[in-house]
Amino acid sequence: MPLKIVVVDPGEVTDDLVQDMMEILTSFCAHLYGRRSAREQGKRGIGKRAGRKGHWRPSSVKMNRAYRYELDPNVQQRILLAKHAGAARFAYNWGLARRIEFYQQTGKSTNAMEQHRELNRLKKTQFPWMYEVSKCAPQEALRDLDRAFRNFFRGLKEGRRTGYPRFKKKGRDDHFRLTGAIHVFDRAVQLPRLGRIRLKERPQVQGRILSATVSREADRWFVSLTVEAEIPEPVPIHGPACGIDVGLSHFATVAASDGSVVKIQAPKPLGRYLRILRRRQRQHSRRQQGANNRRKSALRLARLHRRIRNIRKDFLHKLSTHLAKTKRVIVVEDLNVAGLVQNQRLARHIADMGWGEFRRMLAYKAIWYGSQLLVANRYYPSSKTCSVCGHVLETLPLHVREWTCPACGTHHDRDMNAAKNLLDLAA
Ligand SMILES: [Zn+2]
Repeated sequence: MPLKIVVVDPGEVTDDLVQDMMEILTSFCAHLYGRRSAREQGKRGIGKRAGRKGHWRPSSVKMNRAYRYELDPNVQQRILLAKHAGAARFAYNWGLARRIEFYQQTGKSTNAMEQHRELNRLKKTQFPWMYEVSKCAPQEALRDLDRAFRNFFRGLKEGRRTGYPRFKKKGRDDHFRLTGAIHVFDRAVQLPRLGRIRLKERPQVQGRILSATVSREADRWFVSLTVEAEIPEPVPIHGPACGIDVGLSHFATVAASDGSVVKIQAPKPLGRYLRILRRRQRQHSRRQQGANNRRKSALRLARLHRRIRNIRKDFLHKLSTHLAKTKRVIVVEDLNVAGLVQNQRLARHIADMGWGEFRRMLAYKAIWYGSQLLVANRYYPSSKTCSVCGHVLETLPLHVREWTCPACGTHHDRDMNAAKNLLDLAA
């Protein structure tokens, strides 16, 4: 059976994630092969891990992870936070405009370092207000811009549809990243320039803090701390293997090698909130530009978005953790989500259900908890193959939920049959 082991689907990978994964692999391989050749080995992928060097087992792995907490800023801090977000957004937009201009004049591109130097020169005369904020905020924003361009050009090369970097908007892109002296206290976090800000809960950060990203969601502020931590090497799991088919009527169907086949529903409140969301979005679009009521409804809309996001995330986290902790091997389809999203009707559902996110979670949790993630070949006909006799149908339209095998007469539920076929790949 054609199989390959991948960490994530290249079609849905963000640049951040690639970087994270590279770091994870690099530090992992540093344990395996020593610091020097870690980078090359890392590029060859995690597949090596269970290979020839199977006898070897490190006691721990260095890994980056993030902790996210809600901030409880006072009035002055709120103002300063908004100023930082504003400076980061300004630097990003300024950098983007300059790049476009520079390219039109010279046909060349530039980079974050050069742009940061240029911005620093202009700061004294043109943007003196920038001295009020930490120099990290604009600097990191320019780095993000660099990354957005790299991502865009790589997309062009690989024929993916990655958008050209867009200008950031106030209210939608209120975030900034800081590096340097970041400390965590009992119920507070200390950030460069911003000082000590209270947190709404007790942080439990373990590891060396690398950076802090502060973001606004509706009327709340959050900090996400990226740390480098040593996590113990997981003990391989001895549970059953499973195949997962992602569907439209159910979130997923899981067939396990112990014979169980389970259909998993997306959480119920999600559907209800999504209906409310659609209604509110219509209401919001009728409100007059600049009116007080429009501002209020925008805030309400943002809060609802946050609630939906939280419900979905919680569900995806729980399911992916459960699977990665209990299944020895997990087989998923190499679903071309980007391709499917072009189909209008399906697009809504897929976006709502967060398959891409689910796959990403499975990928890193499999490494954390000692499970193995296999991705079936893109052209493997998991739905059209009879899981009993192996007969392959010519076609099976999406709306057909059940079918009978013409060769052996077995009656199949579409999703359950596909999950069973994926499970077979684990053997
Ligand atoms: Zn059959």
